[in-house]
Amino acid sequence: MAKFLLIGNWKMNKTRTELAAFFGNLKEKCGTIQPSSNVQVKIAAPYLLLDRALEHGRDLGVEVGAQNLHWEASGAFTGEISVGMLKEAGINFSLIGHSERRQYYNETDDTCAKKIRAALAGGITPVFCVGETLQERERGETSKVISRQLFAGLTGLDKGSKIVIAYEPVWAIGTGLAATAAQAQEVHAQIRKELAGFFGASHGAAIPLLYGGSMTPANTHELLSQNDIDGGLIGGASLKADSLGEMFQIAQRLP
Ligand code: PEP
Repeated sequence: MAKFLLIGNWKMNKTRTELAAFFGNLKEKCGTIQPSSNVQVKIAAPYLLLDRALEHGRDLGVEVGAQNLHWEASGAFTGEISVGMLKEAGINFSLIGHSERRQYYNETDDTCAKKIRAALAGGITPVFCVGETLQERERGETSKVISRQLFAGLTGLDKGSKIVIAYEPVWAIGTGLAATAAQAQEVHAQIRKELAGFFGASHGAAIPLLYGGSMTPANTHELLSQNDIDGGLIGGASLKADSLGEMFQIAQRLP
């Protein structure tokens, strides 16, 4: 398993033309990323870009995944995409519970739990996002909120479940106000402990735990140097091949 995992979240950005230019630039900057590299790079792309992104990604050693999925296999759910559809398209991971989906599309702890279960049953690795709002942090509720979200999403899962967790403080997403490395590590240490409770010490320690929220080349070294931070979920800075490539190179140089 790679030591670090960087996942770019493209949100609702990029056309097919821009996508081709991005992968061309990334290849110039990083070459082809080998399976043996200590840093793996993935991109969560908009649905309509998935097929093209998969083609480009294959050439570069960059895995491509989705940003959302529905928990039902099929039916009257206008505008939704199922796990089976994603698998058929060659997708093997998806974000679940991103704070923008919780905030704008009524995603709840309950719907996240259903999505996680459907994803795992269909062979998709969930990248489960948790994080507190600014108000919750200011009220001293960070630890309680994270525990609640983890409990809802992870209770009862098989002990060996293949899952990734992203801690994304909502106040740090897209604001330029990243958590300090100490703030992020404090929450990651809590999550790591709770993962041991859900999955046992050994599997809990092996689950990749990503930080997300205004991560850039400037703070990558410090964040990734923390004991319990295994990588990043990167929004804005993943849209430019230069900055994502730089973050890849910084992570590669870490011991
Ligand atoms: C995100 O969208 O998951 C994210 C962390 O965004 P940004 O890096 O732009 O804060």
